[in-house]
Amino acid sequence: MHELALCQSVVDVVLEQARQYRFDRVETVRLEIGALSCVAPDALDFCFAAVARGTIADGARLEILAVPGEAWCLDCGMTVPLGDRAAACPRCAGYRLQVTGGEGMRIKDLEVA
Ligand SMILES: [Zn+2]
Repeated sequence: MHELALCQSVVDVVLEQARQYRFDRVETVRLEIGALSCVAPDALDFCFAAVARGTIADGARLEILAVPGEAWCLDCGMTVPLGDRAAACPRCAGYRLQVTGGEGMRIKDLEVA
């Protein structure tokens, strides 16, 4: 399952950070999730709790921040908002779009104790 692998990588990063900055308890993990990333935020909570069990992130709260999708429209010559990957340009209704934002997922920051 896609979300499980993502959560595993989030926990890996958290553990790596914990070694580097020497904290031993994580209270909150803030994640930025792009609107075009195909990640189901609802599934993340559950997966994260499962993957984090027994680590220093056990019981940490997941805070999810949605990042809107963005694309560069070749016809308009500008960046336009994009609701989903299959959508047309909201300005010219064209499809010559290159996605420039909202594709990935990243850890924004951690609240540690
Ligand atoms: Zn356009």
